[in-house]
Order: sequence, then structure tokens, then C-alpha cells
Amino acid sequence: FLPHLVASMEQVDQTYIMIKPDGVQRGLVGEIISRFEKKGFLLKGLKLFECTKELAEEHYKDLREKPFFPKLIDYITSGPVVCMAWEGVGVVASARKLIGATNPLQAEPGTIRGDLAIQTGRNVVHGSDSPENGLREIELWFKEGELCQWTQVQVPWLRE
Ligand code: UDP
Ligand code: MG
Repeated sequence: FLPHLVASMEQVDQTYIMIKPDGVQRGLVGEIISRFEKKGFLLKGLKLFECTKELAEEHYKDLREKPFFPKLIDYITSGPVVCMAWEGVGVVASARKLIGATNPLQAEPGTIRGDLAIQTGRNVVHGSDSPENGLREIELWFKEGELCQWTQVQVPWLRE
């Protein structure tokens, strides 16, 4: 019985999670990483990074027409961010649940935004909204060689 073979029959997704500059400044990096780590997902990539305006604009290109777009770009480029790639079955939707609603005042207690933030414009973390965007964003934020292929020793204790 090989759990990793059973696991491979299911769709394994990847999501791009980013701790925004306010999360870094407020000393929440460990707390936020810890929530995904404890859940059991597989960390594929991790770095502290200062992004350019161009990269931030490309990342949020679907929001280009929104009135808050210029402020959003200023916010994301206002200091270093922590870029992460996480992998797992259902990781995209699950990460969105762990993160909570876009407006932290509406985010449930127990979620990252519900526990750690109060304003939409300072909501501490990003998570991809679909498996397609997960792949697109990981490709956008990570260079070749920055992602790791590895097997967690805890896999048999995470999946039956
Ligand atoms: N945002 C904002 N004002 C708004 C809506 C969104 O400043 O009225 C920012 C906020 O930081 C949010 C990001 O733009 O996280 C992306 O918006 P989206 O609707 O994709 O929310 P998310 O997927 O991050 O929950
Ligand atoms: Mg979004």
C-alpha cells in the first residue's frame, strides 16, 4: 500500500500565497506560514521578495479598471512580500477558506484575515482564486529552480 500512488489519482493543485507588505511589517510572517504548514499542505517555494510595479500590475491585471487599482499597486510594492507556492488536493479552495473574506471585517474568526486584519486595503495575504490562476501566479512570481520537489515524511499521517 503506497499512499502517494493513491494520492496521485486525485487532482493535485497548486496555489500562490503571498504575505503582503503589511503582514511582513507587522511581524505576522511566521503566524501566517504556520497556518498553511499546520494544515498539512506541501510547501514548494518560499522567498522574501521586493516586487516591481510591473510585476504587481501583471499579477492584478484583472483589476486594472478598478478605482482602487493604483492604491493596490502602491500597497503591494510598499515593502517586501513573502511569496509561497503550496501544493495539495483542493489546496486552492482550502487556502481561500483559511485566508477568509476579502474584507477582514467580514472574514470569519479563525481565518487569517478574520483574526489578523481590519481593512480590505490592508488584508495581509493573497491567495489564488482558481487552480489556473494558481499555476499562472506561481509562474509569474517564481523563477525556474526556485521550486522544490520533495516528499513530506508525514504523508501517511495526513492521508489514508
Ligand atoms: N482591494 C481593495 N479594495 C477593494 C477590493 C480589493 O483594496 O474594494 C484589494 C485587496 O487588497 C484585495 C485585492 O485588492 O485583497 C484583490 O482583490 P480581490 O477582489 O481579488 O480579493 P482577494 O482575492 O484578495 O480576496
Ligand atoms: Mg483575488
